[in-house]
Amino acid sequence: MPKFPGIKGIFLDEDPLIEQGSKGLKGISIPDCGLKKSDLKKDESAYIDAKYIRKSPPELPEVSEPTVVRHFTRLSSWNMCVDTVFYPLGSCTMKYNPKINEKIASLENIKNLHPLTPGSLIQPVLKMVYDFNEILCRLTGLAEFSFAPQAGAAGEFAGLKIIKKYFDLKGENRKTILVPDSSHGTNPASSVLAGFTPVEIKTGKAGTLAAGELEKFVSKDVAGIMITNPNTFGVFEKDIKKIAEIMHKNGSFVYMDGANFNAFLGSARVSDMGIDLIQLNLHKTFSTPHGGGGPGSGALGVVESLREFLPVPYVKVSGENASGADKNFNRQVYELAEDKNNTIGKMTPFLCNFAVVIRAYAYLLSLGRENIASVSEIAVLNANYVKKKLGKILSGSDPFEEGLCMHECVFNDKAIEENGVSTIELAKLLIDYGFHPPTVYFPKNIHGAIMIEPTETESIRTLDNFIKAVKEIRFKTKKSKAVKSPQKTKVGRVNEVIANKQPIFKY
Ligand SMILES: *Cc1c(COP(=O)(O)O)cnc(C)c1O
Repeated sequence: MPKFPGIKGIFLDEDPLIEQGSKGLKGISIPDCGLKKSDLKKDESAYIDAKYIRKSPPELPEVSEPTVVRHFTRLSSWNMCVDTVFYPLGSCTMKYNPKINEKIASLENIKNLHPLTPGSLIQPVLKMVYDFNEILCRLTGLAEFSFAPQAGAAGEFAGLKIIKKYFDLKGENRKTILVPDSSHGTNPASSVLAGFTPVEIKTGKAGTLAAGELEKFVSKDVAGIMITNPNTFGVFEKDIKKIAEIMHKNGSFVYMDGANFNAFLGSARVSDMGIDLIQLNLHKTFSTPHGGGGPGSGALGVVESLREFLPVPYVKVSGENASGADKNFNRQVYELAEDKNNTIGKMTPFLCNFAVVIRAYAYLLSLGRENIASVSEIAVLNANYVKKKLGKILSGSDPFEEGLCMHECVFNDKAIEENGVSTIELAKLLIDYGFHPPTVYFPKNIHGAIMIEPTETESIRTLDNFIKAVKEIRFKTKKSKAVKSPQKTKVGRVNEVIANKQPIFKY
């Protein structure tokens, strides 16, 4: 019998923190500062601008330290997370995040760094950002990365703004961005936001965009193509080089959504594919806790000719001879510079989501050059293992049965429907087996899609357990049980629309 991790435990109802306190209770005690109220000037606006002074004190919970710690620790245990369960949420790369990254990002002189500290006092910090940029350039073959975009979608937006500005400066009014239907939903959305009109291209049976199909859409109105690669079917765009050639011949750009970089990290370079711009989701590929909206980093990389368009500030290095005395002593000086002639401007108040960049840098250094490619090799191996094994159990449900997948695999609901179980019910049942559900009903053009991204951090034992759970659901689960699942969680089945539109936070 397989042993599923399960998520049973003691669930106690929990009042909101504000209701758990009582007047005067404190979590900390601050030593007396020696000043009496009468020592202060009567008029508080002598210290603080009047418009910032509250009329009444804030309604904060008054609670003791153990109450706060227990409250949040208990709440955290009600959630499914990568540190407790297998989390095969397709397209999201919910890999386990090694704790060494966290440790490095929490070092006192990194964690407590003030964003306004002058560059001359934080040379090693600027050097880390610069060196990390160099590694990304080597991994992709591109010329420079900007860490200003704070999410994958923000990276897409910045990339498209660059394309827009490039054509504006050239005096060309190109309005169209081509987007295959296998692209991530953020691709057409970012195109619209950046002032373009996305035009959808249907992919072929193999789930990829054929160069021949693309030819039909090429015109002088096309500013570029946005292509997710590997795409949201988990398939590598085999025609990518030909696609790039067609675009370049037309004077258009190739933007690659590289959120799925974990599929070929260290194994292939995007510059060899003819890519002009790419965003890498550091929070996914390079292992930073993510979900629920951040923090993230959609590092945007570009070819040489577009460097001048990147957002500012950026870390600039200059070689400098130490004055006079020792002419052989070369010192590199790092500074936060804004001198990019055609920059699209500022995207963030400071340089970047620094802790995310540091975690990603620590992740790469701890892997070492010789192990980087194994990330993508194992990610692809794991996905193909699940694809093959589940392909048998969910027979007839794999739309891309022929061939290999990359980092994730996708099934339709044909086989489970035969048993009267719908995709959403499969997802909810998996929770009772102790697994976070896969991504469901996405991509939209696959009926009742079930999209599984195992990632490279999972063992064969975990994958086998997951596969056994799907098998039990496929062959043994009755509809009556399916509609009531999940049953082992704090909160059972909710109406998803109402839960989204009118959430009740107090239980
Ligand atoms: C996750 C993802 C995005 C969006 O990234 P965010 O950081 O959530 O903005 C874009 N494209 C693909 C392919 C993704 O997987």
